Amino acid sequence: MSPRPFPVVLSAPSGGGKSTIARALLSERTDVGYSISCTTRTPRDGEQDGVDYHFLPRAEFDRRVAAGEFAEWAEVHGNRYGTLRREVEKVMGAGRHVMLDIDVQGARQVIAAFPDAVTIFIVPPSVEVLVARLMGRKSETEAALALRLKNARAELLEAERYQHVVVNDELAHAVATVGRIIDEESLKRDRLPALGSEVDAVVGRLVEGLRRLDPS
Ligand code: ADP
Ligand code: 5GP
Repeated sequence: MSPRPFPVVLSAPSGGGKSTIARALLSERTDVGYSISCTTRTPRDGEQDGVDYHFLPRAEFDRRVAAGEFAEWAEVHGNRYGTLRREVEKVMGAGRHVMLDIDVQGARQVIAAFPDAVTIFIVPPSVEVLVARLMGRKSETEAALALRLKNARAELLEAERYQHVVVNDELAHAVATVGRIIDEESLKRDRLPALGSEVDAVVGRLVEGLRRLDPS
């Protein structure tokens, strides 16, 4: 019995490891797909348009906002980022849960639009580790790095709004924990559309069998 697909929101302060965890999960599960976001920021070394993000000029991003193409969007660390409705529909339409690597503002909008979304906040084990990972990624200028660390404080205060919090210490452990959360959420009764009638049928057969065993 397959559960109804649901959005899985992964948020974290920059450098917390959400993209790494998302990538690992997507490589090992076929029941989860990824929503490729749009962004106005410039691509990092190795990032591909249409794979990591849809990289858009600001005017094109704003045109899509006006056209209502985004399920959510927000300004994060000085750039705009948004989730296209069609990306979410494409993945869920194929029967897969859709993973959204989005910031805390976007998460609030997704929760409002999709009340069945599963929300997971990834936290680094310590500030020292966060700084070391962010610097180790070598993706930011000094100013961008400072802005991301400054914003991390406010982002961390949002962790309490999320249903699940996962500490990203050992990567394999964090990936397994997020996978377990998705599995457990999938088993919840209200996510199984056919459960009502199937359970009725099973219970009906059991009751009938018991009656045959003991007609009194
Ligand atoms: P985010 O997407 O949250 O900004 P990333 O996934 O880019 O963060 O992770 C930031 C950096 O930390 C990357 O260089 C990544 O390889 C590294 N990293 C992430 N998780 C771990 C981990 N558990 N152990 C060691 N390095 C990690
Ligand atoms: P980065 O520039 O490191 O790829 O992402 C910066 C921040 O933007 C991260 O917190 C990331 O989760 C967030 N982000 C990425 N895509 C989206 C999106 O579509 N919507 C929102 N609201 N945030 C996003």
